[in-house]
Amino acid sequence: MVRERTERSRGKRDEKSRYIPKRRPCPFCRDKVEVIEYKDPTKLSQFISARGKIEPRRRTGSCARHQRALAIAIKRARHLALLPFAPEHIYKMGGIPIAPIPKEKPAATPPPETES
Ligand SMILES: [Zn+2]
Repeated sequence: MVRERTERSRGKRDEKSRYIPKRRPCPFCRDKVEVIEYKDPTKLSQFISARGKIEPRRRTGSCARHQRALAIAIKRARHLALLPFAPEHIYKMGGIPIAPIPKEKPAATPPPETES
């Protein structure tokens, strides 16, 4: 029997067209991280938004256990001023410290020749 499209069935989502994102493994479980290092702002900054907020689990893709540990690590890092609390901090400091950018040395000028 062909199911008629009634008022009731219209609200139901079509199973075929439903987008089910592939469940990606938790990045910490994947790397077998036991302890999330709070002294590593470079790593932690990947898990905070542009406004300095902790990204939700659906964005980070981490499991409940690691998300909890991550949140604690970020909070500790904030307390140590390694990560921003508020967007204003970011603006004043000129961005989240994502990996120290190696300063490009100006074209090395050869030292004035003293020979001869
Ligand atoms: Zn995990």
